[in-house]
Amino acid sequence: MTIRTIGIIGGGQLGRMLAAAAARLNFRTVILEPQPDCPAAQVANEQIVAAYDDPAALAKLARRSDVVTYEFENVPVTAAEALQKTVPVHPPAKALEVSQDRLTEKTFLNACGIETAKFHAIDSQADLDAALADFGGKGVLKTRRFGYDGKGQRVFRSAGDDPAGTFEALGGVPLILESFVPFEREVSIIAARGKDGRVSCYDPAENVHRNGILHTSTLPARISEDAAQAARESAEKLLAALDYVGVIGMEFFVMADGRLIANEIAPRVHNSGHWTEAACVISQFEQHIRAITGLALGDSSRHSDCVMTNLIGDDLHAVPEWLARKDVLVHLYGKTEARPGRKMGHITELKGRKTPSQG
Ligand code: AMP
Repeated sequence: MTIRTIGIIGGGQLGRMLAAAAARLNFRTVILEPQPDCPAAQVANEQIVAAYDDPAALAKLARRSDVVTYEFENVPVTAAEALQKTVPVHPPAKALEVSQDRLTEKTFLNACGIETAKFHAIDSQADLDAALADFGGKGVLKTRRFGYDGKGQRVFRSAGDDPAGTFEALGGVPLILESFVPFEREVSIIAARGKDGRVSCYDPAENVHRNGILHTSTLPARISEDAAQAARESAEKLLAALDYVGVIGMEFFVMADGRLIANEIAPRVHNSGHWTEAACVISQFEQHIRAITGLALGDSSRHSDCVMTNLIGDDLHAVPEWLARKDVLVHLYGKTEARPGRKMGHITELKGRKTPSQG
């Protein structure tokens, strides 16, 4: 079937960048998002203003679209499964199921032969006390579901940290306690798998977080070629196990000996892959569109070193200065209100390029 229209669930900046990449390849886009005039809808052909699990809206999205994708991992699995009956959905609903729950995610990664932090499921204060005792009083406690940008987490740094009342304080919801990983740095890899099973990986990025939010992604990452190869192999294993089509982001901790420990996966384009639009010929956004529409995957090699910096809240004021600089690509998300902690845009500085021509 000829694909003309791509349905995108979620209307944030990732949906916006997917819609823009889709338009360049002559695809139309329809966004399902409850917030009117969302970032994605501003550059798409149509928006269905409704909840992500609204059956009538999902049916409309299926009618309008030749393929459906999503830009965030908390799309209800039931919505993806319902859509799948009438329209192809990429990445598969299984990828949502695995990534929505940190316990399922780590269990799945381990089953694929991918190392993670050690972990215990926590369903009560007694579970927490026992798990902390097992980890020598140290660990990172996280909500199993709906945690992002470091929200819903508590770090136990030493045996002296008192866990009393923590289970209730975090809302009495299912939790996971992870062993504390004394990592040297954090990296991520963006990989794509086509309908033919071919996998293409971008270079791993080195990521720095501030207040739980990604601050910068730097290329190249300070890791060995062996570690980069291990990241690529992990991505390949995971993508094959999920029979995945589309782009995925995988985050890792890098240990002092170069070993990688997987932390999180995101079944979508990823903030730590925004640099690809400036330092590669084919961005992660176009790569995703190519994958889900059955087109050939593009070249994911990198032509420049670079640093991507997120513009959070008031960082937006610095945009005129960034625009005045050479070798800087500015990308803004069309959000009107610059609340603290809100991602408003990003910039990518190319480093070590040949001297740009004058003018
Ligand atoms: P996450 O929400 O899982 O991405 O965690 C947010 C940040 O917390 C990570 O980027 C790390 O900097 C830190 N972190 C998460 N899990 C661990 C862990 N098990 N050990 C040490 N640091 C962690």
